[in-house]
Amino acid sequence: MMAGAASAVLPLMTTQPASAAAFERLKSLKKSPRLPVLFVGHGSPMNAIGDNEYRRSWQALGAEFGAKYPRPQLILCISAHWITRGWYLTGMDKPPTIHDFGGFPQELFDQQYPAPGAPVAAAEIGRDLRSPDANQPVGLDMHEWGFDHGTWSVLKPMFPKADIPVIQLSMDYHRPPAEHYALGRQLRALRERGVLIVGSGNIVHNLRATQRQAASNQAYDWAIEFDRLVAGQLQSGNLDALDGFQKSGELARLAHPTHDHYLPLLHAAGAADGREPVRFFNGNFQAASISMRSVVWG
Ligand code: ZN
Repeated sequence: MMAGAASAVLPLMTTQPASAAAFERLKSLKKSPRLPVLFVGHGSPMNAIGDNEYRRSWQALGAEFGAKYPRPQLILCISAHWITRGWYLTGMDKPPTIHDFGGFPQELFDQQYPAPGAPVAAAEIGRDLRSPDANQPVGLDMHEWGFDHGTWSVLKPMFPKADIPVIQLSMDYHRPPAEHYALGRQLRALRERGVLIVGSGNIVHNLRATQRQAASNQAYDWAIEFDRLVAGQLQSGNLDALDGFQKSGELARLAHPTHDHYLPLLHAAGAADGREPVRFFNGNFQAASISMRSVVWG
């Protein structure tokens, strides 16, 4: 092949971060008062079925929608458990409930979350979102995924009727944290189209260090330190600092041997505005090395 011919078909690349999408072509979702953004620390999958403080907090938060907050037209969830190459939205009509774990009781495998998907909204949103690395529309997944436990374990207690459509957005783990934050910023305008954006992960997540018998007020010093560092940035509205978490070196590596559970925080924070009121709940730990701190903006 001639060099000239090859270079002529190279896509145009942008060096600018993708700006917030306007979603002006979004027909399937009506304009609405702005919805809050949530980041939920999900912890153990067993929190979905146990009668514990986490599940109760998710039930209480869900009850605020349709009362304090508008009822969402759509929920868009970014879960720590959907890692892809490239970025995708679930585009199916009836997303399956995925039991992506092992070694738990049958009752957990029996759980279903039969909320509908939203194929039309997913196609419209995917068309306007741009992958921060390649400035390409975000893809639609029709067969591979559905609702993993990062999504259904928190949404089932929150919205038990499963009557609000849900889509998931995948995360390209191979791309740097700043791009996850940039993609979150594009989601911001969806909050005024009735979309509840939910990031589901954990602010500290080190499974190798878990101490199963630890009480919720017991944690490693490094877990407490990293959790406080992030909480301070959230509290002060310094959201732009969040994607630089690896600058804290060894502390960040202890808090996140892999950082898949941190990335959904970046998506949620991107969709928030540092000047908005911020509220924490579940500010404690599970198994000494998992921060359950959760955040509501707006
Ligand atoms: Zn998880």
